[in-house]
Formats: sequence, C-alpha cells, structure tokens
Amino acid sequence: MKRYSAFAIAREAARYHTGWERAWASPKPKKKYDVIIVGAGGHGLATAYYLGKNFGITNVAVLEKGWLGGGNTGRNTTIIRSNYLQDPSAAIYEKARSLYETMSQDLNYNVMFSPRGVIMLAQTEHEVRGYQRTAHANALQGVKTEFISPQKVKELVPIINLDGPRYPVLGGLWQERGGTARHDAVAWGYARACSQMGMDIIQKCEVTGVRNEGGKVVGVETNQGPIDCDKLGMVVAGHAGVLAEKAGFRLPIESLALQALVSEPIKPCMDVVVMANTVHGYMSQSDKGEMVIGGGTDGFNNYTQRGSYHHIEETVRALVETFPMVSRLKMLRQWGGIVDMTGDRSPILSKAPIDGIFVNCGWGTGGFKAIPGSGWAMAELMAKGHSPLAEDFGLNRFTEGRFIDESVAAGVAH
Ligand SMILES: Cc1cc2nc3c(=O)[nH]c(=O)nc-3n(C[C@H](O)[C@H](O)[C@H](O)COP(=O)(O)OP(=O)(O)OC[C@H]3O[C@@H](n4cnc5c(N)ncnc54)[C@H](O)[C@@H]3O)c2cc1C
Repeated sequence: MKRYSAFAIAREAARYHTGWERAWASPKPKKKYDVIIVGAGGHGLATAYYLGKNFGITNVAVLEKGWLGGGNTGRNTTIIRSNYLQDPSAAIYEKARSLYETMSQDLNYNVMFSPRGVIMLAQTEHEVRGYQRTAHANALQGVKTEFISPQKVKELVPIINLDGPRYPVLGGLWQERGGTARHDAVAWGYARACSQMGMDIIQKCEVTGVRNEGGKVVGVETNQGPIDCDKLGMVVAGHAGVLAEKAGFRLPIESLALQALVSEPIKPCMDVVVMANTVHGYMSQSDKGEMVIGGGTDGFNNYTQRGSYHHIEETVRALVETFPMVSRLKMLRQWGGIVDMTGDRSPILSKAPIDGIFVNCGWGTGGFKAIPGSGWAMAELMAKGHSPLAEDFGLNRFTEGRFIDESVAAGVAH
C-alpha cells in the first residue's frame, strides 16, 4: 500500500486523483483464522493492529455486523483525557493518551489529534474537593493535571459565565495535554493498517453463534457461514451482553443509549474542551466550527441508537447557565449510541469462562479516549495470556469485590 504524504497529495492533485488505492480490502471470509475479533469499532481494530504490530499475529479477521466504525466509535464526542482517580485507570488511559500523540505517524493516517486541553469544571464544594483529590492522585501517578482557579478558567474559556445563579464556577481540573481526535479517522487508520498487514476486515458479517468443543472455542457462526478460529476476541461494546449470551455466559453489563448533538458551525469561540459535570453537559468546538455537545444516558436500559427531544432540552438547558451564548445556537443533528456500563464504571479486559475467548467491553460513556491503550493491552492479553495494563480489569473483580470505582470519582466519565 502506498504511503500517504504531502508529496502523494501533490502527485495525485496533478493527475486528478486517479491514483489513490482502496484504503482497505473487502475480502470474503476464509475457513479458519488464528484469531477472530468480533466488532470493528476502535477497540476491536486496535486489538487487531497491536496483535500484528507487537506480536506478529496477522492471520486475523475482524468481523463487523454493520460498517466499520459505525458503532459508538463513530458516534462519540471524541474527548481524550487521562485524569482518572484510580491507579489502574490512570495507567491504561495515560498509555492511550500517549499513543494518541504519535498515532498519525504510527498509522500513516491523519487522525487529527488535537491536544487542546480539557477542563472539568468544579461547580460545587464537593466537586472542588473531588477534583483536588484527583489532581493529587494524578501527581502520584505521573499524569500531568492541575486544579485551577475560576480566573484561570475564564482566561482559558472567555465565553464562560463564572457567576451562574445555581452553580457558579469554583475552579476546574485542567489537563493541558488532553484533547480530541477525529473519531472516524481513528477507525479508518487502524483498518487501513490492519489490511496492510494482511488481516481481513469483513463488514456486514454478524456473529450469530459461538461454537466451543469441550469448553474451548473453535469458531463462530455468522450470516456469511461458519468461520473457525483458535482464539476469539469479543469487542462489541453495547452488544457485549448479547454476544456473551450466544457464547453461553453472562456479563455484568447494562446497555443504555447515550446521546449527543452538534450545533450549526460558528466562528472559533472556544479552543479547549469543557466538561460541566454537575449540570451534566460538555462541549468542544469541531474543526468545522460546530459546537459538539454531549449529554447524559437514558434513564432506562435500551438498545436504541437514536436521539430524543427531552435530551436536547435537558442538555441545552444545563449548558445555558454556564455558557449563555448557547441560547442563541441552532442545533443541527442529534444521535445516540449504545454504551456498555459496568457497576464500577470501569472496563472489562478479561479471559472469559470459555477457553480461548477474551472479552473487552464496559468502556461505557468514555472509551473513545482509551482505544489505543485498550487495543495494546487486549492484544497482549490474547497473545500472552496476561497483560500488566489489563490485570486489574478482569471479570473476577466482580466476584472478589475488588471494584475500580470511577463512578463516584468522575461523576460523569466521558
Ligand atoms: C454519544 C456518545 C458520546 C461519547 N463521548 C465520548 C467521549 O467524548 N470520549 C470518550 O472517550 N468516549 C466517549 N463515548 C464512548 C465511546 O464512544 C465508546 O466507549 C467507544 O467508542 C467504544 O468503542 P468500541 O470499539 O468498544 O465499540 P463500538 O464502536 O460500538 O464497536 C462495536 C462494534 O461491534 C459491532 N457488533 C456488535 N455485535 C456484533 C455481532 N454480533 N457481530 C459482529 N459485529 C457486532 C457493532 O456493530 C459495532 O460496530 C461516547 C459514546 C457515545 C454514544
């Protein structure tokens, strides 16, 4: 596959863009693979990529029931940060954040990583204490964050209203090296790199059953016929529980719709990401100028990938107090994705009860930022049977009561 470069763009411009190749192949499934990954979202594709890059395992198929990146990976608000409270979380999210910094060069694909900085606003005394505690924890973990004053918040975000009647801004947890990336490009970049290594990415291929013999996985049933494998990675986010049931075990996962919306494009007005967790809304400005706005999850379990009117109202109402200019914005689009929530709001990276099956799920409302770190750890787990980054995220933590509690720590976990 030809390398993408400034020179390639100039060359193609000169010949009317007739020389570009397909970014990835669309092959028919083979009878057998060493590894099958179910789910061509960011986490599945990153797992396949690091299996090839770090362990030389390339006889791999990634099976996707829809189109690649069409799940939560292509539906999220792209916030990247690693200011988590607990040590295992900080380790995997910081690994991911650092991999994002060099991802475009590594994949030879521009993922538009923009380390513009992320502020989590403290709007109650409780949040002030919580974020100061996180800043101290981050200092010990080697993650660079800082608790900043309201004046510094105003300097970074001139459009903010510090003196909201209900929730004045009392400070913020600032991670200067957090930011955003182009979500589709992350999926496309990994897909292209996997295809280049000879892996098969098979779209419109739904896994409908999982076969095992004597407690060891031997393959899957799909709408394109049976496919055999030695190892199986289940990386299907909101459908993790559904797929696990097909394999014959249960997961402690609840599936919920999480919604987001974007406004019409406007002139540049905010060059950092702001999360207002007490009022529950978060916002950044895309390169096109749209304000990208995230809200909360539905209050009941469901599998709808849709938006709903009351969420627009709730989310915008929450933001208007802190950002009065939002009241004059017209909204363009709204959508939903199915997020996979665990009780402690931490992911599952684990061997499954069936030999040869590995599970990667539970990233909930905040897994976009984790994609490279998760893929790195999952590949190591699948290749070697253990991974230091994944160790604490095993399924056994639910039976041993060893929770990695990020739910109270973060309040909201995007
Ligand atoms: C509105 C919204 C905003 C968000 N904002 C952020 C944010 O700002 N920052 C952040 O870090 N995270 C955010 N997230 C969370 C983040 O998007 C997810 O945690 C992450 O994208 C999950 O990636 P994934 O690869 O695990 O799942 P997905 O991208 O959902 O991929 C799973 C794939 O599996 C496929 N699949 C399912 N069942 C089968 C089957 N039986 N056979 C074959 N294929 C199957 C699906 O079609 C899907 O493509 C947000 C999510 C949403 C919905």
